[in-house]
Parts: sequence; C-alpha cells; structure tokens
Amino acid sequence: MSFSSLGLSAPILKALYEEGYENPTPIQSKAIPVILQKKDVLAGAQTGTGKTAGFTLPLLELLNRAKKTEAKPHVRALILTPTRELAAQVEQSVDTYGKYLSLKSTVIFGGVGINPQIATLKKGVDILVATPGRLLDHVGQKTVDLSKVEFLILDEADRMLDMGFINDIKKVLSILPKKRQNLLFSATFSDEIKALADSLLNSPVLLEVARRNETGGGIDQALYILDKEKKRELLAHLIEDGKWTQVLVFTRTKHGANKLSEFLAGRGITSAAIHGNKSQGARTKALADFKEGSVRVLVATDIAARGIDIDLLPHVVNFELPNISEDYVHRIGRTGRAGNEGSAISLVCGEELEYLNGIQRLIKKEIKQIFLEGFTSKQVYVAPEKPNKSKGKTQSRDQKIRAERDARNGAHSGKQNASKDGQAKKPDNRDKRPWEKDKKSESTNRDEKGKSYPKTQKKNSQTSKRNYEK
Ligand code: AMP
Repeated sequence: MSFSSLGLSAPILKALYEEGYENPTPIQSKAIPVILQKKDVLAGAQTGTGKTAGFTLPLLELLNRAKKTEAKPHVRALILTPTRELAAQVEQSVDTYGKYLSLKSTVIFGGVGINPQIATLKKGVDILVATPGRLLDHVGQKTVDLSKVEFLILDEADRMLDMGFINDIKKVLSILPKKRQNLLFSATFSDEIKALADSLLNSPVLLEVARRNETGGGIDQALYILDKEKKRELLAHLIEDGKWTQVLVFTRTKHGANKLSEFLAGRGITSAAIHGNKSQGARTKALADFKEGSVRVLVATDIAARGIDIDLLPHVVNFELPNISEDYVHRIGRTGRAGNEGSAISLVCGEELEYLNGIQRLIKKEIKQIFLEGFTSKQVYVAPEKPNKSKGKTQSRDQKIRAERDARNGAHSGKQNASKDGQAKKPDNRDKRPWEKDKKSESTNRDEKGKSYPKTQKKNSQTSKRNYEK
C-alpha cells in the first residue's frame, strides 16, 4: 500500500517523500481512510507505531480540503497531549507533514512564558497542540477561542488520565462545539478510557494494530533478579560489557535518577538525568545531547520520558520497575519503535516482585530471566500464576493506586476550576500535579512536575531510512 492510494494530496505526499517515508505503517493504513471519511475513531496503537502521522496526515488533508472562509485563521483542530514533550513533538510533525500547506499551527504548554503564546494565538492558528493545563489557562484568560473547533484529538489518552487530567479534559470538552470529529488514541485500554470514549465518541470505528496492553513485538525483554545494592554495578557492567552507546534508564524517583547519573559519570560513562526538578534548559540540553550521542545514558523518571521519541533507541533499562504495570508498556515502548529491534532490560529486587507479577499478567507474557555470576540471584523466578490466566488482578491493583491518586487529586476537580459562569478560572496550582503536593505520594505515585520542552525534537535523519511492508 502506498500513501497516494490513501487519498492524501500532492503537497502532503511531497512532504512525506522528503521525510523518506515510503509506505504507511499499519496504523496509518487503517486510520487515514477512516478519518478521511470523517468518522470518529478509537485507536489502540502502541507508541512507535507511527500513530502521530496516523492522525496528523488525514487531519491536514481534511483541513486543507475545506475552503477557508476567513482571512485570519481560527482554531479548527485541537490536539491534546499529556506532556509538554509530546506536545512539542506532535506539533513538529504537523509542521513537517504540512510544510507545503498554508495551514498555521502552534503548540502551547506550561512552564514557559504565556505572553509569546498569546501573541501567536492572536495572529490566528488552524491547528493547536496543547497540554490541558496551559490550554485552560488560556481559556480562563480568554486568549484562545475554541468555539470553532471541528476536530478534537486526544493523544495518549491513557497517560492523560494517569496524570490526573480527567477534569481538565471534561472542562475543555464542555466548551467545544458539539458537532465535531473526535479521535482518541491510547496505548492501553482501562475502564476509565472506555468510559471517556463512551462519553466522547459518536459511533467510533475501533482500530487496533497491537493487541490490548501487548508490548511491542520488536522488543526483546529480559530481567535480572538481584539485590538492590548490586543494581548500579550490574547496569555499569551491562553498558560497558555490551558496549551500549545509547540507553534510556528509568528510575522511580528524581533523587534516584540524580544519584544513578552521578554514579555512572563517576564510572566514566557519560550520563545525564532528566526529571521535573531540572530546569527546562537542562532537560532540553540533556535530551539533545542524548539524541546526538554525546551522552550515552539518559536517566529519566516516567513523566519526563513520556512521549519522547528517540529514533532507533536500542536499549531501555528499568532500573526500578514501575508500580503501575501499564507504565512498563510505555517505558519499553521507547525502544523497538517503528519496526526496529530493541532491548528492554529490567533490574528487579525482592521487593519489586509484586510489580513484576502485575506486569507479566498485564502483558500476558513471562519475561525471560537472565543469570549473571557475581550479580544475580540463583533462584529461578516463577510467576505465582500463569500470566495468560489473568483474572484482572493487575487492573484492580492499578485501579487502587489510581484511586489513591485521584483522592489526592481533589484540588484538581472541575468544581474548583470553574467559576459561576462555567468558565475556567485560573487555578494557582495549574502547573502542579498531584504527586508534587503530597510527599507521601512519592512511594505510590509519580514524582514529576512535567516541566516543559521547547520545540527541539527534530527528527533524526535515520528515520528517513525506514520502510514499511512493501
Ligand atoms: P510515533 O509512533 O508517531 O511516535 O512514530 C514513531 C516514529 O516513526 C517517528 O520517528 C516517525 O517519524 C516514524 N514514522 C512514522 N510513520 C512512518 C512511516 N510511514 N515510515 C517511516 N517512518 C515513520
């Protein structure tokens, strides 16, 4: 199948050609024709499958087809993403694929000055990519007009719910015109996502390229069971022995990320940490250095790494397992993207075995255990029940964690953010997230601020070498 057979017009095909995309990925082949038929879509697509182009290309096509009636553009398409990094990347894609069209786009997110955003919005844009918090700030200040939105896209909707954005999303929905096309993309499907889909989508077409909660096929997964104290040494050993040149390492806490990064640097392994306590400049630099190869290891917490698209990233290491099983799927999805091979290694100590059980039940797969003399336990790990005989235990444990988070998240409720006339008022904690407010939450929740990134995620030229199902 070719892009031209999907109904995309010449200026878009030209941009794709220049990007080196020869064939659509499976999600693109499925989504593009359906979206062009103006249907609502509920798409289950892993990160790295090419989902961004899957919704961006038909969106550009539809917007370009409809004649503009006003001289100054107005927001016709709204794309919401959970993180600033992802927002920046999505807008970069809109920019790249739409470079031969006369559509205007911009991205707005928190952590950076609001005034330049106000100035850009004032000039008028057709496509607005935003994180929910900052979008509501603009709504509250009446610096954005969403009254003519024709398309709403929720990207990585599961992450948005995980990050406590449900009330923000509802608020945005309440101010959008009723008649519009809705696209909901999510890597995983929890009951909350299904409920959101029910309330948002009209007779949606369901698209799935990877089975529910299934980890990407091109990813070789393995785990080492060992004492907590030996993890750092094993990681350094794996990097040095395997001559790994680019590895993304996940820790659960910001402090842990800093300490590990310092340890690796002390061992002569170039490393940088990326998390919500780092300044935006430091985060941008760390990511850029990592992408271009001058930093070998990027140690990240979940929120900081979410949505980051690093072309051909070969290795992901879970230095600590995430306590929400679905985060495992997201983390390892950083590698093995767009049909490439990748390896995902987990370092698991005794107290994390419960998390491991949950993860294996979720992915319905036993992760292979590797033994390494001098590092790992000799004990063979046996899952308490076969992963594929899951009776939804994972979900209930994860649901419990979410419920605790939501309880803490009371300050984020629609009530507090709404004024009498139903307009959003500016909350003073807009850029804070639940896990920042309650120190106790660090053990069961994320530890991030979700600091922002400017638009720096230029695609690496290797992307253009990729090819899909000829
Ligand atoms: P995504 O899942 O949207 O984050 O995309 C993952 C990566 O695949 C990005 O780096 C895209 O640039 C790349 N990509 C998307 N579609 C194609 C395609 N049809 N051919 C080659 N690369 C692609």
